[in-house]
Amino acid sequence: MKVLFVASECTPFIKTGGLADVIGSLPKYLQGLGNVDVRVIMPKYSDINFSLTGYPQWQKSIEISMEWRKQFCGIETLEYNNITFYFIDNQYYFNRPGLYGYYDDGERFAYFSKAVVDLLPHLQFKPDIIHCHDWHSAMVPVLIDKRRNDDFYKDIKTIYTIHNLKFQGIFPKEVLYLMELDDSYFTFDKLEYYNNINFMKGGIIYSHCVTTVSPTYVEEIKNPFYGEGLEEVLKYHQYKLKGILNGLDYEEYNPSTDSNLYVKYSLKSLQGKTRNKKMLQKELGLVEDKNIPLIAVISRLTEQKGFYLIKEVLDEILQMHIQMVVLGVGDKEFEEMFKGAENRYPNKLRVLLKFDEGLARKIYGASDLFLMPSLFEPCGLSQLIALRYGSLPLVRETGGLKDTVIPYNQFTGEGNGFSFTNYNAHDMLYTLKWAVDIYYNDKVQWRSLVKRAMESDYSWEKSAQEYLKLYGEIKG
Ligand code: ADP
Repeated sequence: MKVLFVASECTPFIKTGGLADVIGSLPKYLQGLGNVDVRVIMPKYSDINFSLTGYPQWQKSIEISMEWRKQFCGIETLEYNNITFYFIDNQYYFNRPGLYGYYDDGERFAYFSKAVVDLLPHLQFKPDIIHCHDWHSAMVPVLIDKRRNDDFYKDIKTIYTIHNLKFQGIFPKEVLYLMELDDSYFTFDKLEYYNNINFMKGGIIYSHCVTTVSPTYVEEIKNPFYGEGLEEVLKYHQYKLKGILNGLDYEEYNPSTDSNLYVKYSLKSLQGKTRNKKMLQKELGLVEDKNIPLIAVISRLTEQKGFYLIKEVLDEILQMHIQMVVLGVGDKEFEEMFKGAENRYPNKLRVLLKFDEGLARKIYGASDLFLMPSLFEPCGLSQLIALRYGSLPLVRETGGLKDTVIPYNQFTGEGNGFSFTNYNAHDMLYTLKWAVDIYYNDKVQWRSLVKRAMESDYSWEKSAQEYLKLYGEIKG
């Protein structure tokens, strides 16, 4: 079986969030199951640093017709970790700093989607299944469907995975014409969305199967609170909707081999974790004390991740006998909130407003608690990394957080972290105080929580099997 992943980001090439982790690891695990050739196609952004992976090789160039224009499309390939990657080269669209947030994002990803579909006959790899991810590639199933009378395209099946329903790709109607789609697509039951077009809506309607990244989220998004305006579309198409939990790349994220850490460690050598803590404290100018609980936040600083809850009780958190490290970039409001608090509590809080993978690993390795009180969370990989590194996640019970963090139960001794149910700052604070209390007063229990966290198994094996089964079903 041949499967082509279409995505806008992928580790180790370029990453802004969990999507990149998934695209960088799922193909490897699928391929490990045998009988499936998975390849990945993505834009060749100028920010990708190929020095560590090797440089892609030029294959050929074609022209992509976009309404009255022709756009250049270079196809380059790279074998990395036994996976073939195709990069789409177009300097005009992708030779810019960063990935998203440009005035012409609609045009850029319309181009990307059209290029993927147009170049298929030139690849010498005809996929049975095209697996698209998030809004950036959501128009691919639409464009494939449009060609269903063409012999080359007619048997190709499409899967669309929603990694985050919040980002849908909503653009003016004119973007349709760039993809050579006509006004017949601009209707309520197709791409029209409040007088604009909605890429994600197209992906949901036109693909053969829609998945999202956790079993809880797949239920949540059928309700208005989580549905982001697409709940009716999702309900209408629920017969083809399925939730498959994301896994974590356990080879990549492994504290016993991770060279980003100050000291590697495992369950059997947890003193290594303590040394990481002391070295991070030293590097960040915090008091070097292994006995103070270190709370970590590594996140996009946006409302989704629960920062309004943190905002409400940040002073109360910082008045506890704790230390806190925040690594993230995002909304000015939250950046300033943390920077302000750092000024008020210079001995307790360090705020690092940047995206830094190496530092993130050090913080996962050094911290005792990982705070992630999301408003909504399709799956979340950060809590999985935290578990793997023995930093106990404290989460709100939503989406994938609910599916992966088992709350500590003092009566049965079960659990691998802490959680609270309502989107309420004081529920979060209460749970945090309880966790800190256990940290100080019940070392034995804390240790066994860390053990259970590190032994939790959220590797890709099981979920990759589920995807493979699904591919088999839709291929027919
Ligand atoms: P999302 O994709 O919604 O941002 P996830 O929890 O699924 O959230 O994935 C976030 C990923 O990005 C994790 O691997 C996390 O460690 C990483 N990450 C988030 N912010 C930063 C940052 N500032 N520096 C380094 N890594 C980060």
